Amino acid sequence: MKRILIVEDEKNIAEIERDYLELDGFEVIIENNGVNGLNRAMSEEFDLAILDIMLPDMDGFEICRALRKEKDIPILMVTAKVSSIDKVRGLGIGADDYIGKPFDPAELVARVKAHIARYDRIKGTTQDKGVDIEYRDLVIRPLSRRVFFKNNEIFLTAKEFDLLYYLASNPNVVHSKKDIFDKVWGMESLGDAGAGTVVVHLTHIREKIPMDYIETVRGVGYRFSMQTEQ
Ligand code: CA
Repeated sequence: MKRILIVEDEKNIAEIERDYLELDGFEVIIENNGVNGLNRAMSEEFDLAILDIMLPDMDGFEICRALRKEKDIPILMVTAKVSSIDKVRGLGIGADDYIGKPFDPAELVARVKAHIARYDRIKGTTQDKGVDIEYRDLVIRPLSRRVFFKNNEIFLTAKEFDLLYYLASNPNVVHSKKDIFDKVWGMESLGDAGAGTVVVHLTHIREKIPMDYIETVRGVGYRFSMQTEQ
């Protein structure tokens, strides 16, 4: 059974969300404040998180940022404020989707199902590929999903791995942020949020691997440059 975490301080909204999701066969856990919500999200396995933005203790933005560093589950942001939606789009905090209040619960359920299906599909396809990539001290092993630099293991999150592997398995080609987002996240039309998410993940990869393998092609996108060694 797929598990969903709802972090929402308005009890009636949380219960409506839960009721609709349970009708569709999901197991639902509710937390009413930000700190408890983040702790729960970090310590247990969920297939998706629904985060309200205005919350006691810690807002949905902070939870999303912290959660995204550790987990790659789909994150849906929910907010009553239109200005918050703009912020979700612009910040590149790693949210997969956002929905404004009030919303039709059936619409929420439809989006939840779509995100979970996409996430399952991506996990499935990336695990199927099996060819190791070895280039200039960097080794990427897709079957075990491990990365090594000069024989030292580099620990990437699942999405960072997918992104690096996608670029490295299609080298010497410039990929736009939109193309990368569509391929790695499997979603289209998220616009700024998608581009921001790609930038955030690339920054993390560059912080973790001591040599920068990914070239920025200004105004166009990114390229994993793989020269044939002499
Ligand atoms: Ca709230």
